[in-house]
Amino acid sequence: MTELKDIKAFAFDVDGIFTDGSVLAMPDGDLLRTFNAKDSFAVRMAWMNGFPVGIITGGCSESILNRFKMLGVETENIYMLSRNKIVDLEHFCKRNNLTLDQVAFAGDDVPDIPALKAAGLGICPADAVEEVKQASDIVSEEPGGKRFVRDLIERTLRAQGKWKFDPHGSWACLYPDHLAAFADKTGKNV
Ligand SMILES: [Mg+2]
Repeated sequence: MTELKDIKAFAFDVDGIFTDGSVLAMPDGDLLRTFNAKDSFAVRMAWMNGFPVGIITGGCSESILNRFKMLGVETENIYMLSRNKIVDLEHFCKRNNLTLDQVAFAGDDVPDIPALKAAGLGICPADAVEEVKQASDIVSEEPGGKRFVRDLIERTLRAQGKWKFDPHGSWACLYPDHLAAFADKTGKNV
């Protein structure tokens, strides 16, 4: 198990990690998810501190892609329709010049178990399924979608002395051009 002070990157499943696992099934087949702003801020902090962030999900939607792009996650580090999370985790490591033991991976359900075991640090939320809890190095006290991601990132950055908020830093979300233009017009800082 890699200690938090030696973690260089994060990789996350989405459903049950950034969310409580609920999806709102729309008539057109799209699935809507609720994200937690405190988790999102932590992802932004990770990005600002130079940590590559990977998203490895079996799901697929434009909103997942856009949400994580807004938080600074590189498009190439977002793996949707993942059918083998180890393969995608290894690809993420390779393209970011990392070894598996430098990465913390977070998952909550059975398809995540091989990646949880392969990563340097496997961590799961309090409401993960039992097999995942047994396969993880750390079981967080926070459930998915309710500050679990914040817990992992904040703990790691604190262990490395990097949980420092610069009010003058570019911490705001990377809004798409049309929203940034709208905010400019209304005089708000983005
Ligand atoms: Mg999941």
